[in-house]
Amino acid sequence: MHLEKRILITGGAGFLGSHLCDMMLERGHRVLCVDNFFTGTQQNVDHLRDNPRFELMRHDITFPLYVEVDEIYNLACPASPIHYQRDPVQTTKVSVLGAINVLGLAKRTKAKVFQASTSEVYGDPSVHPQTEDYWGNVNPIGVRSCYDEGKRCAETLFFDYRRQHHLSIKVARIFNTYGPRMHPNDGRVVSSFIVQALRGEDITMYGTGQQTRSFCFVSDLLDGFVRLMDSPDDVIGPINIGNPSEFTMIELADLVIELTGSRSKVRHLPLPQDDPRQRKPDITKARDLLGWEPRIALREGLQRTIAYFDRQLTAAGT
Ligand code: NAD
Ligand code: UDP
Ligand code: UDP
Repeated sequence: MHLEKRILITGGAGFLGSHLCDMMLERGHRVLCVDNFFTGTQQNVDHLRDNPRFELMRHDITFPLYVEVDEIYNLACPASPIHYQRDPVQTTKVSVLGAINVLGLAKRTKAKVFQASTSEVYGDPSVHPQTEDYWGNVNPIGVRSCYDEGKRCAETLFFDYRRQHHLSIKVARIFNTYGPRMHPNDGRVVSSFIVQALRGEDITMYGTGQQTRSFCFVSDLLDGFVRLMDSPDDVIGPINIGNPSEFTMIELADLVIELTGSRSKVRHLPLPQDDPRQRKPDITKARDLLGWEPRIALREGLQRTIAYFDRQLTAAGT
């Protein structure tokens, strides 16, 4: 029998959050989407406005939130380096105070709570590919630290609330994910390269472009989220969710240029401070414990994402 749940999604108007709202509504649940629109937009969830099982609340998660829910997905936090570095103190507050409020709420309501953690907890990793038992190589005082250390502290809080207050927690470490509804000016590499290629502008390559990332398409990632949330109580993570196919940024640019048929040229710019040189998830745990693995190859995912941005840019007349 299907049981309707009340699901809170913090950061629900963002890139991942809005897709998660869609998915939870499709599954017949009620969704409370909480967002302060720092990087997310109302437009991302506009199509849900008339759905009676959907509610949108403007709220900053660094402040307490008293609502009644059965499950919580905690996604509120800017994810792109240019955004999380714009107001770094706020980024740490969102990660840490946001986690405390969400955990306090979960404790009171006895809700199961999911944390969107990140591969950034591994920092500039000296272990490759990254396994969950690797403790990471993070600079505590650099420009990325507000995010990296904030997310690490959030993981600590999740595990301490479990040990101390016996909460039901699920912690996913998300690796670079892309797809429709990324913000066109978001500054992350996939959206930036696609928008630049479609506009015929130079592709902004930071450093040599030999640094690597492993890109997961959004629908694959969400499938992993739900499998983790629905897994037995003793499966708590942290668990890597990402696509292990690894690419250099040069390879990514070449593929984007090929698929858009663009004449854009690559322009090299300085590499930002503490930019990780390599990143690739070991997903053995996700395979074994969740029966999960990604299905959508980069070429196919990029084609879908390019089609989305093409429509957006055409509609905006830019
Ligand atoms: P996003 O920036 O599109 O979404 C974040 C959302 O959180 C936005 O809608 C934003 O307005 C909201 N938000 C920010 N501060 C808030 C606050 N104080 N109160 C309420 N809402 C707030 O980014 P995304 O890619 O959708 O990322 C979602 C989550 O997944 C983030 O926690 C991010 O750290 C994590 N993550 C994402 C990736 C990725 O590649 N997309 C990788 C690792 C981790
Ligand atoms: N909190 C919240 N909503 C709730 C319950 C708690 O936002 O439904 C917040 C509350 O403001 C508190 C935080 O979550 O600061 C942590 O709550 P907890 O009960 O763990 O701690 P305490 O209130 O005892 O400090
Ligand atoms: N990058 C780039 N050009 C851009 C944006 C990013 O070369 O316009 C590089 C960036 O330096 C990093 C990689 O692409 O090495 C991924 O960057 P992103 O900001 O998407 O995410 P990160 O994984 O670094 O958090």
